[in-house]
Amino acid sequence: MDFMCEQGWICEGCLMIDAYGWGIKGATCVLAINGSGGAVLVEAAHRKSAPHVLRELKRGDVKWILVTHRHIDHAGGVASMLRAFPEAKAAGHPVTLKNLEDPSKINEVTGRVWGELADFMDPVEDIGRLVALVDGDVVEVGGGVNVEAVHTPGHSSDHYAYYCSEHELIYLGDAGGLLSCSTSTVIPASFPSSFNFGEYLRSLDKLLGYEPKVVVFAHFGAVVGNDVSRIIEKCAETLEEWRRLAYELDASTLADELKKKYLEKFILFDAKTRNLMFDMLAAGLVNAVKKES
Ligand SMILES: [Zn+2]
Repeated sequence: MDFMCEQGWICEGCLMIDAYGWGIKGATCVLAINGSGGAVLVEAAHRKSAPHVLRELKRGDVKWILVTHRHIDHAGGVASMLRAFPEAKAAGHPVTLKNLEDPSKINEVTGRVWGELADFMDPVEDIGRLVALVDGDVVEVGGGVNVEAVHTPGHSSDHYAYYCSEHELIYLGDAGGLLSCSTSTVIPASFPSSFNFGEYLRSLDKLLGYEPKVVVFAHFGAVVGNDVSRIIEKCAETLEEWRRLAYELDASTLADELKKKYLEKFILFDAKTRNLMFDMLAAGLVNAVKKES
């Protein structure tokens, strides 16, 4: 298994672009997959990510912007990307599209959770350019390059990962967890309020069925090799462990436990943001336990 922790070409025709989420290097990424008739962008990242992405993207013939789910660090850049690429359409789960059309609710929730770190989403004005995908739908960009939508709920109900058979590549979004690339550590993305244990684990299982050779984490990096499934299995194992803890502990004790174990080992974002992140992950876990019982 090789970890690719910097922006660059992760396989022939696939460029991983650092989208500088929250203004931080290596926090979010957008993947460009090139076909003979144009390019697919997987993910749009934040609204403020657009200049970073557009600078790196050398070709202007983007045909599709595929969105993993409604959260603003993934869907926030769609309106800007559609403006930059007049021929492109944006596609995703119907619930994701509803939020792109009217982001008032997701902006309100984000403001409450992230405070000054929130980067609010603009609505997509031309809703005729939004295309609803169902599980298994495929978009094509020529030269045998197809990208399939894989419904992977758990992090959120509207989550899709995207599979490219040509490159045996899966863009995991948040379905495969969060990767600390430099320390090869992966943890589940159990943020409140939509996180669901059973669905998350079933989605990980579904992703393993694709037997990918390349997996890309929205936060952040790519893992390449014949044994990349191991990183998805690790995420599932960690989630089982966290689920057991969530049944025993309240949210603040659980957050302390997670920080003790991961704060130094999990190097994504700065220390202040990581602290806030583990508080949220713990709250999501405890909330999910309440929903189960
Ligand atoms: Zn998310």
